[in-house]
Amino acid sequence: MINYHFHDHRSSDGSEPLRAHCEAAVAAGVRHICITNHAEALGAGGRWVADFREMRDRFMAVRESVAECSARYPGLEIRLGAELEYRREWTQAFDRLTAAVPFDFVIGSVHIVDGMNVSGGPERDRFFMDRTQDEAYRRYFEEVEEMIAWGGFDVVGHFDLIKRFGHPHYGGYQPERYGEGIRRTLTQMAERGIGIEINTSGVGQAPGRAYPEVSILAWAREAGVPCLTLGSDSHSPRSFAQGLREGIEVASLAGWNEVATFEQRRPSVGLSIEALVGWASSSG
Ligand SMILES: [Zn+2]
Ligand SMILES: [Zn+2]
Repeated sequence: MINYHFHDHRSSDGSEPLRAHCEAAVAAGVRHICITNHAEALGAGGRWVADFREMRDRFMAVRESVAECSARYPGLEIRLGAELEYRREWTQAFDRLTAAVPFDFVIGSVHIVDGMNVSGGPERDRFFMDRTQDEAYRRYFEEVEEMIAWGGFDVVGHFDLIKRFGHPHYGGYQPERYGEGIRRTLTQMAERGIGIEINTSGVGQAPGRAYPEVSILAWAREAGVPCLTLGSDSHSPRSFAQGLREGIEVASLAGWNEVATFEQRRPSVGLSIEALVGWASSSG
């Protein structure tokens, strides 16, 4: 099995060192892992900052941990990644960062829309209370489209994250309602060689389902999006493998045959969905 999205204590919101996450991976039978800490950090005065030097030094330290753990756990293939939060004013620092650190894999994610965090924190309710469902979802997907136009990353993280807190405010949503914009975005991803991930954190959150919906993953395949990755987005070793079984089911339902691994920012070996379904049915 594979987990290409998790955070350790060197991520603003993660806990415990990489070694503890490796232990969890070994226990769950996950063999391919990629640590994807958030690049931005909380600065003085509680403001989020993307400072090139701070980020570079921190990820170079993570790189050392990856080397140490690779020696310690020879059965694990451990890759160095990052999750970049899209804000237009940070893209230059991120471009410098990805040029300076030898990442294997980089996720681009939208958490901020109209200056507000829609995935947590004190503002999230205000964002949804001030907007209709259509306004909220449309604005989020427009931001994803803007991030694609920048393009400094390999896959889009949690493509429909907006449903995490949109769900408690408005109930379930139909991707078809935003289908035109979503399909346009997926086509742009295909043209730029940007992949998509299945992020299984949604399985344990309000939506009760992975990000994105099965239909979006099927459209992604039709649009020619080049690759699919899979990650639990865990921030603690306890939830390391959470939802991965459901994630494989979703990939299979959407008609994908493979989940990608990455090396030096390029898709490497593809793991067959069929083999991963075997893992999912044999692990509790
Ligand atoms: Zn994220
Ligand atoms: Zn994450």
